[in-house]
Amino acid sequence: MAQATTPNRRFNNPADALAYRSQWNGECLEFTGHLDRHGYGKMHVRGRGMLAHRLAWELEHGEIPDGAVIDHRCHNTSCVRVAHLRLATHKLNMEHQTRAHHGNKSGVRGVYWQAQRRKWAGQVRHNGKSHYVGLFEDVADAETAVIAKRLELFTYNDSDRTGVDHDRPHRLGADSPAL
Ligand SMILES: [Zn+2]
Repeated sequence: MAQATTPNRRFNNPADALAYRSQWNGECLEFTGHLDRHGYGKMHVRGRGMLAHRLAWELEHGEIPDGAVIDHRCHNTSCVRVAHLRLATHKLNMEHQTRAHHGNKSGVRGVYWQAQRRKWAGQVRHNGKSHYVGLFEDVADAETAVIAKRLELFTYNDSDRTGVDHDRPHRLGADSPAL
């Protein structure tokens, strides 16, 4: 067995079983048992196979309605912290996933988890150079900083321009370089 997962143990109630297989990693409570190929934790509850994050949600909020999915706000599929989960429709969940980048734990372009510092690091690549924008407690703050930096570096960036920087509507105005 190459994988160092938490050894199997039997519990009388699912909450104890889940707590036994969860470990804090920064803001996330990560499942330490078996993960499926998508990185979701898998558990057996009363003989029934169940995804760990769905179990975590149900223990807190009750049964998940038919057709609903539990989405990871933190984009960390092994996370079972209920505060990082939200009930979503399948369609909404797919939209969130299209934002995720392979191997990028935050799911936000340019934002990476710095395990040693226990913070999110922001970085923008432009013309082969990396521009570091700092460390952040919150993914959303890191994303905002990355987008601001990207706007500064790439004069045109329509995908990022909507929905951010409302407080600085004239940053690309009269004082911007002529294009
Ligand atoms: Zn999380």
